[in-house]
Amino acid sequence: MATQLFVPSYRTEECLEQIRECLDTGWTGVGYKTIEFENEWKKYTGLNNAHFLNSATAGLHLAVKILKEYCGWQDGDEIISTPLTFVSTNHAILYEKLKPVFADVDEHLCLDPQDVERKITFRTRAVMFVGLGGNTGRYPEIVSLCKKYNLKLILDAAHMAGTHLNGAIPGKEADAVVYSFHSVKNLPTADAGVVSFASDELDSICRKYSWLGINKDTYSRTDTGGTYKWKYDVEYLGYKYHGNSIMAAIALVQLKYLDQDNEYRRKIASWYNASLSELDYIKPIPVAPGCESSTHLYIVETDKRDELLELLNNNQIYPGVHYRDNTEYNIYSYARGDCPNAAEKSARILSLPVHLKLTQADIDNISNIITNKFKR
Ligand SMILES: *Cc1c(COP(=O)(O)O)cnc(C)c1O
Repeated sequence: MATQLFVPSYRTEECLEQIRECLDTGWTGVGYKTIEFENEWKKYTGLNNAHFLNSATAGLHLAVKILKEYCGWQDGDEIISTPLTFVSTNHAILYEKLKPVFADVDEHLCLDPQDVERKITFRTRAVMFVGLGGNTGRYPEIVSLCKKYNLKLILDAAHMAGTHLNGAIPGKEADAVVYSFHSVKNLPTADAGVVSFASDELDSICRKYSWLGINKDTYSRTDTGGTYKWKYDVEYLGYKYHGNSIMAAIALVQLKYLDQDNEYRRKIASWYNASLSELDYIKPIPVAPGCESSTHLYIVETDKRDELLELLNNNQIYPGVHYRDNTEYNIYSYARGDCPNAAEKSARILSLPVHLKLTQADIDNISNIITNKFKR
């Protein structure tokens, strides 16, 4: 049987029970399970706000857009970001006519604070930090830099559902935190995400933007019987970004199992570590001190990357690469050469399969295939 990189696990019966409630009551859209999930997510993370959306990409876009408008940033102003990420992170900056300025990554494959500091200019407005694979990297130093230079901080936590740093969920220090609940992430729905603004005011602006700019407060303030439901105001050119109750129903169930699932993912990482850490041609990417990673990814670095990819593929094991240096893409090629470490890592990294259906025997099998091939 083939071993895939990611396989989502759903508690099917419990999910169906939650979804049945939506179907029976006829409420599948925004404002029923979505509110229930937002409350549960705030409780779980300790963040002030949470707005459930149809994706993390939507959340990143709204985070950039609303901060830009609120702070009065101009087109062409800069946000420092990482070249080792899914393109959503950097597209969100371009959507708003801001410029992604790439800083290099460190040994955790997260933004290197020293290079971030070097890349700050008079037009820098914010830093976008990605906790790659669930790792927090040097996030606390990035927080300090943002304070020192008065920059906004957006945390792309798409991989970080359940990641703890020194015993707490990180993110309270950021101006906006965005999680993904895409089916391959640690809290899988089919497609959903959440954005948490630190400011209540920005959260309420965000709620209008995610539903075409419609301000529901207008009628809820003036109308008690529902007669004037159509008499809302439209304040902004908003988007159709809000999440729905079917996705939230699944998310509510999956959230109950998040810590337990991540515990199992960390076990998988420890099995890989035990068999691979002795090898001199393969090096697991280290988890930052104090970080209890969600272990969304298990990444190794090796100068035999392409050989290993082929070897595993020939054994029906399908690893991935997270990520290709974004400056290799045409759209971000203006920054090619700016981040030598990211470029080098991008050619040397490999993500081994991590999901809840893998057993210790599966991990041993993968590790043995790697170990036997390159023995001596
Ligand atoms: C998956 C991912 C996203 C986008 O998430 P969606 O919910 O699919 O929009 C953003 N950033 C990173 C780092 C991701 O891995």
